[in-house]
Amino acid sequence: MKLSIKDLDLKGKRVFIRVDFNVPIKNGKVEDDTRIRGALPTIQYAIEQGGRVILASHLGRPKGARVDKYSLRPVAKHLSELLGKPVEFADDCVGEEVKRKVDALKNGDVLLLENLRFHAEEEKNDDRFAKQLASLCDVYVNDAFGAAHRAHASTVGITKFVEKAAAGLLMQKELDYLSRVITNPEHPFVAILGGAKVSDKIAVINALIDRRVDKLLIGGAMAYTFFKAEGFTVGKSLVEDDKLETAREIKRRAEEAGVELLLPTDHQVVDSFDPLHSRKTIPIEFTNVGLVGLDIGTETVARFSNALKGAKTVIWNGPMGVFEEKPFDEGTVAIARAVADAADNGATVIVGGGDSVAAITQAGVADRITHISTGGGATLEFLAGDELPGVAALNNKS
Ligand code: AMP
Repeated sequence: MKLSIKDLDLKGKRVFIRVDFNVPIKNGKVEDDTRIRGALPTIQYAIEQGGRVILASHLGRPKGARVDKYSLRPVAKHLSELLGKPVEFADDCVGEEVKRKVDALKNGDVLLLENLRFHAEEEKNDDRFAKQLASLCDVYVNDAFGAAHRAHASTVGITKFVEKAAAGLLMQKELDYLSRVITNPEHPFVAILGGAKVSDKIAVINALIDRRVDKLLIGGAMAYTFFKAEGFTVGKSLVEDDKLETAREIKRRAEEAGVELLLPTDHQVVDSFDPLHSRKTIPIEFTNVGLVGLDIGTETVARFSNALKGAKTVIWNGPMGVFEEKPFDEGTVAIARAVADAADNGATVIVGGGDSVAAITQAGVADRITHISTGGGATLEFLAGDELPGVAALNNKS
């Protein structure tokens, strides 16, 4: 068990909280504040305990340079509205000016630092930079589960230079739910995976098979690599030609382990020469060379939904089609409804990954899902059984 923020005495302490405020910003406004809301319990707890709260996050990929569109300033304003109290903003995350702002904090005050990734040292996990961050605080709390699979200065390096490194409440919640799924899932256990590439998900698929998932439902472009491996024509659909053998191997392993592997039986396709006017739903085996598969079909939605009936544990990561292009979001949104139904019928349902979570919101079923994970890559790595560096670096409970 990792040390929790609840194990720390925060009164009058400078509390550095690594949060995940990597949110979409348009015209200086936060477009989706799910991640900010996710960190509120930890921030509010630190405020109530009389901590002097210092928040730090990355935003986008500024690659070590100051890039205005990746400034966290709009987040300070938004957070201040959510908390109903002022949030001070520092133009940098290290240096004299930041120190002065930290020194001026009173118990219960909140300061948000500028984007950590404006310094290339952050992603390099540079010791000197980590030490500078550490010098700002008395205790360190990591609440950024979504960044815990990266060994960066603010997630790993800093822990070497602070006395106490603890998990925040969101981090703890993520670890609790996801550990339960990998150590002791209630059966029937159904996993739904989608998205672009098999290669990103090989480790998690193998781990799920080892952990005796009962059914593995695969949609999205990933499915085409499996179809091509079996000799089907997939037309111009996205395939990883160097992963055909991997797909065969996964199929073999699933069969040996008695895992039911379900692939789409129909899909929505367009003609690659007339993509705007040629959308139709056809059986997979009718795919000819000129077609591109962009979403699962209605029969597949029904089969996948049926496979979820009676499930006690469900995990879902990755869209069933090109979710960002309407109407190819339909299959993914239909699956969002199906997993919400499974949750209503008693399953523990965990959803992770940007597109799947967006589909849950779009379908209006977010409040029916047991746990919406804030991690994409971190969730997959954790489910694959890897130790996340940002978690490993935290102190254990003594
Ligand atoms: P991932 O990052 O692996 O979760 O994959 C997400 C991406 O997969 C999204 O950008 C989707 O557009 C893409 N995707 C899903 N299904 C398909 C498909 N049939 N063809 C092309 N891209 C797809």
